[in-house]
Amino acid sequence: MKARSQRSMWASRGLLALVAFTLLGAERPPGLGDVTEIRTWSYPDYTRVVVELSRGIALEEDPTVRLPADESASRPERLYIDLPEIWVGRRYADGVPVGDGLLQGVRLGQNTKRTSRLVVDLERYDSHRMFTLRSPDRVVIDIYGEARKKAEADSSVKKGGQSGTSRLSAQSRSMKTVVIDPGHGGKDPGAVGIGNVHEKDINLKLGLLLAERLRSRSFNVVMTRSDDSFIDLETRTAIAESAKGDIFVSIHVNASENKRLRGIEIYYLDEEHERHNVEVAARENGVRPEDVDALQQTLARLRVAEASKLSQSLAQYVHRDLTEGLTQTYGRVSDLGVKKGPFYVLFMSSMPAILVETGFLTNPKDAKLLSSKRYLDVMAAQIASGLGHYRNRDGQRVSRTGERAHASRSRL
Ligand SMILES: [Zn+2]
Repeated sequence: MKARSQRSMWASRGLLALVAFTLLGAERPPGLGDVTEIRTWSYPDYTRVVVELSRGIALEEDPTVRLPADESASRPERLYIDLPEIWVGRRYADGVPVGDGLLQGVRLGQNTKRTSRLVVDLERYDSHRMFTLRSPDRVVIDIYGEARKKAEADSSVKKGGQSGTSRLSAQSRSMKTVVIDPGHGGKDPGAVGIGNVHEKDINLKLGLLLAERLRSRSFNVVMTRSDDSFIDLETRTAIAESAKGDIFVSIHVNASENKRLRGIEIYYLDEEHERHNVEVAARENGVRPEDVDALQQTLARLRVAEASKLSQSLAQYVHRDLTEGLTQTYGRVSDLGVKKGPFYVLFMSSMPAILVETGFLTNPKDAKLLSSKRYLDVMAAQIASGLGHYRNRDGQRVSRTGERAHASRSRL
């Protein structure tokens, strides 16, 4: 930017503000953030609204307010949430239409000089959950529609099926579709290790090998990426949800300042607080290490227990087969175990999900193994074997899981 005197900068800003005031009927106060994007995704039993912001905002635990329908003003039932220190002016006054049977649409308006109001116009409503995420800063609202689910359950009762089944339980009956998520890609290399090896390339290689192995076990496979492209974390979960996946497996490679650290670890998401690997969570989430605690707190409020019991079991099956298979082939495996970690990409309530860290690119032995096709092949075969064992075992526990998922969701 060309040098300009402070005074003329202020003068031109003042002029801009005056133009804005005239056009929009309100003057934009200095220092506010913007709404950069509104995105929505419609899933079988919920709709996700993501409002991306140019800055982080401080919100209470869940400041969402629910208003009944107002027939005199022909307003539907709606949720609103105030976003402090955010300016939208009249940009979204006309709203973003959704019309998916749950939401009519989303509107945003300037409520006070320094606060914007996000309004979600509802068609049906059972419950919702709201949370904020970082990098980029965004507000996420998931709206669940019990009405739509109940209609499905009623029709299954008529046919003599079970009532009260959620998608989580209904799908574990067949357990057909595995979503493979090779971490990072494109502009995001992930960890960079010895010999300038990029994590994203190993993740993709292993992901493609795993896909082959799973197809030969009659699983359907959906990849979040099958080439070197950049996919953000929400799109990865959106792909999984849209595909109605039964199992989600995210593949990553670890890195550490400690070059001696090596081995395999498998993560699943759990609401419980426990000591977690801040370094790993920060890198895989693309956030600063100091933001990981806030994320963990968010997670504790989301009540992911319904999927997390299944995820834990999935993690244990994969862990067992992976460590056994590698031990058979290589004599010994460095095993760091099954762990709980706050990973964005595992924030899904409708399918069990794990994140596999396949080794450390910063350790010479691991880096060498990970560059060998044979090692990746053994890993792919063993992860597939773990998923096979999980599928066989889980089909017998369907209805209990269904009840748990149902009870837990209605608390949200
Ligand atoms: Zn990674």
